[in-house]
Amino acid sequence: MLLKNKKILIMGIRNKWSIAWGVAKMAAENGAELIFTFAGEENRKKIEELLSEIPYKKAYSCDVSDDQEIKKVFQEIKSECGKLDGILHSIAHANTEDLKNDFIYTSREGFSHANDISAYSFVAISRIAKELDMLNEESSLVSLTYYGSNKVLEGYNVMGVAKAALECSVRYLADNLGPEGIRVNAISAGPIKTLSAKGIKDFGTILQVIQEKAPLRRNVTIEEIGNAVVFLLSNMSRAITGQIIYADNGYNIMGI
Ligand code: NAP
Repeated sequence: MLLKNKKILIMGIRNKWSIAWGVAKMAAENGAELIFTFAGEENRKKIEELLSEIPYKKAYSCDVSDDQEIKKVFQEIKSECGKLDGILHSIAHANTEDLKNDFIYTSREGFSHANDISAYSFVAISRIAKELDMLNEESSLVSLTYYGSNKVLEGYNVMGVAKAALECSVRYLADNLGPEGIRVNAISAGPIKTLSAKGIKDFGTILQVIQEKAPLRRNVTIEEIGNAVVFLLSNMSRAITGQIIYADNGYNIMGI
């Protein structure tokens, strides 16, 4: 029960394929008290149906492109659920055309959008949580990134740039929040077939290559990523901050 007596906010749950759902299940198994945010009030019924499978406190709709909305939702969370011990940021978005065309054709707007939702939102969430004094001492903030931040993968395109910004933000946030005892890390997850991944060209080939080349010769599951995130949210990782930890069955160590 690594997360007993810990209140964890999971941001970015969409459906049963979401990595956030894998984290939710593993965090629930480890005794966490869970709160969720999802995008769009119109999705509430489906989200609550899914969440009925585990114990949780409350779910809020929150569009992370809007600082005022994040602030309003976080104020509600603090007053209805109290202070947090951890936040998972499991959110990313890029325009479909920016994943279909060659990277060189990324529009200014598309570049800005992908970075805003996928990287800046983690900075905004961290800052607003700090300003509202909603993080307990020894809190842990975790985001999710991907190997495409430092290697070229056809079709990952502007999302790779956004993940590079996110990973760098993890290090700066860790430095800013460390003196208050708050840790900031990211898990670099191996590829998983989720709704977001559907937008990436030739995703099936990526999955096949992992199965053939990763040291463990298989793809990761949302539950395995969930366990890695639980570790980062728990006191077991007390000495770890500012890190990007690969949970990819070892694929990142391979040359060819
Ligand atoms: P997912 O289930 O589609 O989750 C992505 C979430 O981001 C969805 O809940 C989506 O909500 C949310 N989102 C997008 N724009 C938002 C906004 N403006 N405000 C609030 N939420 C917003 O896909 P996933 O694969 O689990 O992705 C979770 C994280 O893992 C992402 O950061 C992704 O890059 C990362 N990751 C994924 C893989 C992979 O292979 N799947 C590998 C490594 C890292 P709506 O769909 O309702 O808009």
